[in-house]
Formats: sequence, structure tokens, C-alpha cells
Amino acid sequence: MSKQIKRIGVLTSGGDAPGMNAAVRAVYRTCVNRNIECLGIFRGWNGLINGDVRRLTQSDVSHIISRGGTVLYSARSPEFKTEAGQQKAVNTCKLFGIDGIVAIGGDGTFRGALALSKHGISVVGIPGTIDNDIASTAYTIGFDTAANTAVECIDKLRDTMQSHERCSVVEIMGRDAGHLAVYVGLATGATAVLVPELPIDFERDVIEKIRAARLNGFTHYMIVVAEGAAKAMEVAEKIKEGTGLDPRVTVLGHIQRGGSPTARDRVTATRMGYYAVEALAAGKTNRIICIRDGKNIDVDIEEALSMHKGINQLDLDTLKTMTGIND
Ligand code: ATP
Repeated sequence: MSKQIKRIGVLTSGGDAPGMNAAVRAVYRTCVNRNIECLGIFRGWNGLINGDVRRLTQSDVSHIISRGGTVLYSARSPEFKTEAGQQKAVNTCKLFGIDGIVAIGGDGTFRGALALSKHGISVVGIPGTIDNDIASTAYTIGFDTAANTAVECIDKLRDTMQSHERCSVVEIMGRDAGHLAVYVGLATGATAVLVPELPIDFERDVIEKIRAARLNGFTHYMIVVAEGAAKAMEVAEKIKEGTGLDPRVTVLGHIQRGGSPTARDRVTATRMGYYAVEALAAGKTNRIICIRDGKNIDVDIEEALSMHKGINQLDLDTLKTMTGIND
């Protein structure tokens, strides 16, 4: 028989993602439904180190389902990577009587969760990152909103590019992963997309694609670059050298992390928040809530972190065809 859970703490950590608030709300509401007290841990793992913890109330989570950012704030905590920092976090759990923690964030956050679970604290992770780079799950909260934000920006850029017959280079977030860039490239009909997962032959992957577009009668070109693949300014310089065009550079940056979450992110976050509390209540620990084949499942954190996520092959094949150059 697993110990009865009386008090759960919830935190958001690492880069924020639209939909984190919806997950916090779902954790709170599921706790209330199960007569579990729900504590907010503020500012990521730092909050657990510093005792930045308080009981959440209904008003804390009212109307946050539609809000971007995170009401719990987020932070990076170098101290939590140390044994001393983790020990302070364990003491905070003891002081507040926290039986389990829901940690919402990316892979770094889950490394923290793994460390904490090794100290005997029950932890369940919810993947919240616009990068969609967690291999154990098909989807991470925030990706859809970030993609839609980028698409909206690029559509606007395209209007002005088209009027002036220009080449645009747009840098998309994603850290070391190109999932967001590929998705956005497909959604915007980009001329070329550069991602870190694939080796880049600049002549073949960019210059020839611009030429092919020009030969097809186009006079404006959209080059999408994942931040992990190259710097947009350098890509623009090389295009200038190779074609004589004078590309305009846009780095979308943090704008992609904000905004009201899409329905997909809200619903995914709500399902995951619910599932996370159910998992803790069932005595599970050291798990990440994931989506596979449209279903929520939970996966061992160590196993999840050892997995590698490549770009969806169908998306890559489709993109190659859409950008019109054969290998
Ligand atoms: P994103 O990738 O979306 O920014 P993330 O969760 O990967 O999100 P990180 O900054 O990598 O963001 O990690 C968040 C926090 O998790 C770190 O600031 C640190 O406190 C903790 N963390 C990361 N790696 C470890 C580790 N190896 N051991 C303990 N804690 C860690």
C-alpha cells in the first residue's frame, strides 16, 4: 500500500511555455477533488531551496487557463544542481510536509526531478517547453502556441517581403532542436529550412532552393533557420555572397514564448496536470507524463532522458518535397 498523499507542491522551471498556467490550474483542481492540499512552489527549483512556498487557493488559479507565462514564475537554479542545494530542497519538503511534487518544465527540470527523487521525494514531471524536444513524449506543452505565433509573424513578414521582392531570413527558437522550425517551415511554405539535426550543405540547401524558386517565377524568398542550426545574420551574409540578394533578418526570440495558449496547449496541459496528480496519488514517483498514440502514459525519468528524439521523418520528407529540391 502506498502512503496516502496529503500535500502536493507544484512548480514551473526552465524556459516558460504557454500552457504552463493551464497545467498548474489542473494540478490544483485535481488536488481539490481528491482532498489533497496544493502548494505553489515559486521560481522553479529555487523556490524549493529557499522555502518560497505557499498554499494555493481557487483565486490563484482563476482565469489563468487562457494566460501565457506562469503565475508561479520560472527560474534557472544553478544551486539545485549541487548536493547542498538538493539537501535544502529536501528540508523544505520536510518543513512544509510536501508528499509529492509536480515539476513542469523541460529536460533540465526533469534532471532536477530525478535528483530529488533519489533523495526520497516523490516527483512527477510534466513536459512544458516550446521546443518539443522531450523524446519520451510526442508532444510538449507550448509547442502549438509558439508555432502559431511564429506563423503569424512570418505571414506578416511575407506581405512586406512580397511587396519589395525581398529575401527574408527568420530565426526560430528551439535550442538544440529543429522541431519548431520544421513545423513552422511547413506551415509558412518556406523556401528553405535549416535545422541542427541535419548536416547543412549551404549551396544545396539554401542557394539552390532560392535559385529554383526564382526560376519558378518567385521574387521573394523565406528562409527559416532553427537557432541551433545557424545564426540568421550569418545565413543572410552567405545568401548575399551566393546570390547578390540583400536579405532582411528577423530573430523572433522570446515573442515565441508568450501569448495566450492555443486550445491544444490548454487541453494537453489540463490532461497532463490531472494525470500527474493521479500518478502521485497512486504512489508513483520519478515519472514523466507523456503522450503516445494520443494517450497519456507515464515514463521513468531516467529512461525518458536517455532517449533521443529525431525530427519526424514524414515531416522531413514532406518538407523536402515542398521546398522542391531532390537530394
Ligand atoms: P527549457 O529547455 O524549455 O528551457 P529546461 O527545464 O530544460 O527547460 P534548464 O534551464 O535546462 O531548462 O533546467 C531547469 C533547471 O533544472 C535548472 O536551472 C536546474 O535548476 C535544474 N537542473 C538542470 N539540470 C540539472 C541536473 N543535472 N541536476 C539537478 N538539477 C538540474
